[in-house]
Amino acid sequence: MSYRAMPKVELHLHLEGGAPPAFIRGLAKEKNIDISGIFDEQGGYLYRDFEHFLQVYEAACTTLTGPEEFRRLTLAVLEESAAHGVVYSETFVSPDFCGGGDVGAWREYLAAMVEAADEAERTMGITLKGIVTCIRHMGPEQAKTAAKCAAETKGDFIVGYGMAGAEMVGRPGDFAYSFDMAREAGLRITCHAGEWGGPDMVADTIRDLAPERIGHGINAIKDLALVDQIAEQGIVLEVCPGSNVFLNAVPSWEAHPIAKLRDRGVKVTVSTDDPPFFHTTMTDEFDMLARTFGWEEEVLSELNQTALDAAFCDDKTKEAVAKRLAAG
Ligand SMILES: [Zn+2]
Repeated sequence: MSYRAMPKVELHLHLEGGAPPAFIRGLAKEKNIDISGIFDEQGGYLYRDFEHFLQVYEAACTTLTGPEEFRRLTLAVLEESAAHGVVYSETFVSPDFCGGGDVGAWREYLAAMVEAADEAERTMGITLKGIVTCIRHMGPEQAKTAAKCAAETKGDFIVGYGMAGAEMVGRPGDFAYSFDMAREAGLRITCHAGEWGGPDMVADTIRDLAPERIGHGINAIKDLALVDQIAEQGIVLEVCPGSNVFLNAVPSWEAHPIAKLRDRGVKVTVSTDDPPFFHTTMTDEFDMLARTFGWEEEVLSELNQTALDAAFCDDKTKEAVAKRLAAG
């Protein structure tokens, strides 16, 4: 059976990373940008390895030239998510890609995304919130600029602050200033760690940035004392198994630690990360979890509930989403 129709909550989705290839091809054509080399014969994204993935991702992003492109992108991404049963989603957005860190320009991009999110909520029954992310490999100074943009625009849509980008660049503590700034502004905190980095990276991230959620965090499994600490502190992992398998962060679905982490008491959730790039969807994630670990509807519902509890939106939104989950 397929879990396509089951309502779902997703916490870890990069907005540009969700861009359907057909949408990007269309934009490239409109703008006369030749990026035909990044697609395979079936029209999907084509790349060799993680490094090349980052290049293809950036090439795709060259078509997203202004707020209007981000409005259309947001709609295209939400259409895809809604088609796979997602009723609530949080997406990573970066001021570095939307106005280059200028607060005024960022506000314009943001307004375009909010317009699309409002439309999607009305027409597709999916709610979207945004988490501003700094890009780790752009360094701590740039991260402060992102945090400032986040703090200035905290509100109904922007609810969190986090960090994405190349995990092995720099140390978490280098970014403490921007995370403190975001926290003081009332934003909730998540951070990518333990996808490529080992348990030390996860431990340092918890110590220095105090996130409520960790993006991936799967390599914590290599240190069971750390796993117990994560469970005790109630830190939620945004696990993206399809992404991990596709990028070879783990060798196979069978070898993925999500079940072991859950068995040891860690709050785990499931997301797609950059779905078309990793040839996955929320339906695929749920179906593969069911097939690989024998997780039936009860466990999958628990994942949704954990994700909703850990969502950064306000209680009123959570109540509305809970009703949509219960309606099935
Ligand atoms: Zn990610």
